[in-house]
Amino acid sequence: MTDVDQIADNIRTIRGNIAAACGGDRAVLLVAATKMNEPARIRAAIAAGVDACGENKVQEFLEKDALGAYDGCPKHFIGHLQRNKVNKIVGKVDLIQSVDSEALLTLIDRRAAALGIVQDILIEVSVAGEAQKSGIAPAALPALLHAASRCAALRVRGLMCVPPIVVDGGTNRPYFALMQQLFVDNRSKKYDNVFMDFLSMGMTDDYEDAVAEGANMVRIGSAIFGQRHY
Ligand SMILES: *Cc1c(COP(=O)(O)O)cnc(C)c1O
Repeated sequence: MTDVDQIADNIRTIRGNIAAACGGDRAVLLVAATKMNEPARIRAAIAAGVDACGENKVQEFLEKDALGAYDGCPKHFIGHLQRNKVNKIVGKVDLIQSVDSEALLTLIDRRAAALGIVQDILIEVSVAGEAQKSGIAPAALPALLHAASRCAALRVRGLMCVPPIVVDGGTNRPYFALMQQLFVDNRSKKYDNVFMDFLSMGMTDDYEDAVAEGANMVRIGSAIFGQRHY
């Protein structure tokens, strides 16, 4: 099988697994996590019908974007966003998935206002409370959404999380269930500029669990492209 055929085959398999995990009861957006993959392989994934491409490094995104790697496909930023890189990414991507502080909200809002656009974002939640990871604590979520409601040039479209790496047959299901609860709870509250449309959770090792617990957006790298060689 060629590389391109393999990528298309992998995507078919993932779609099947997703449909099985949610009983086909809802649309689940498949975001290809494209880090360390070259434009030709990204184009193969787009041709095979992924719903978006997500990069997690600003420089890598800008380089590949300049080469037209994501042409015809929505672009997401899924990695940790440093404050000094905000101006490079706002307006260049359809969705910034990884916003986790009021400072970041303010900078994104200011830049989007200057560009005359409304930037869609997700709030990243540190669902397992791992100190070294990005994301805000679940308890801090209402205050952050309240802050977002004052930012007219951005729109919160939902929540995202990166739970712990799955080891030894463990499972992230309790974390995904907690995220689903936060998603539903906050959907029922009405904040300006806040719409709980997307629950982004699940990667190669745990996307079926995530979908079973309510994800409607998954971010998948290695199951599409094969192992990354660091
Ligand atoms: C790389 C990455 C993924 C996908 O990881 P895989 O385990 O290869 O599927 C998902 N989300 C983020 C934020 C990533 O950086």
